Amino acid sequence: MRIDKLLANMGYGTRKDVKTLLKGGTVRVNETPVKNGKVHVDPDKDLITVGEEEVEYREFIYLMMNKPGDIISATVDANEWTVIDILQEEDQIFEPFPVGRLDKDTEGLLLLTNDGQLNHRLTSPKKGVGKTYKAKVAGEVTEEDVKAFKDGVTLDDGYVTKPAELSILESGAESEIELIITEGKFHQVKRMFEARDKKVTYLKRTKIGELELDEELELGEYRELTEKELEYLM
Ligand code: URA
Repeated sequence: MRIDKLLANMGYGTRKDVKTLLKGGTVRVNETPVKNGKVHVDPDKDLITVGEEEVEYREFIYLMMNKPGDIISATVDANEWTVIDILQEEDQIFEPFPVGRLDKDTEGLLLLTNDGQLNHRLTSPKKGVGKTYKAKVAGEVTEEDVKAFKDGVTLDDGYVTKPAELSILESGAESEIELIITEGKFHQVKRMFEARDKKVTYLKRTKIGELELDEELELGEYRELTEKELEYLM
């Protein structure tokens, strides 16, 4: 790839900033000064330095966020705060996007990456990756609901949901449940309960496949995935 693109991607400023940097003569490829931005480099093989600093190139970023219930999981929006807006600039440079959407008022595990293939693997209904949610539901949740979710419920648009695993954690005036679904229709969890005449009053995603939300993360905090966590997803 071109050295100017690589440096811009790695946070050395805009293309214009990078041009000025290159002109300054501090950028070296395998110890040789390079001033021309069009020069091609192989980030896996070439040693690229700016002054004394080695430039470590990486293509992909994988972040786990504990999404708060007051921002939207889009990349840009004219009026609302998005999950991208709350990332540090050094992470925004990679142009990550959310893997699947959570509603504005839903909290919990959100993955952000610029790896399109991973996004596809995790969101494609054909792959059937389980997404685990914890929810509070107004009123009692019963064994009939468990069976209905297992058999599939008919949503307001006539769609019949795939088998879903509902566990009742507490049933009463306000119930607590855990639900694993393998698809991601718009407002799916809320609409599944609506199909049973029940209302979700709080929703949080806790798992995607085997990847679990790090409960140490406060709402709005995020961190990079560990190697091990990434393995769960690959
Ligand atoms: N189902 C919903 O209803 N909302 C979400 O945010 C995610 C799943």
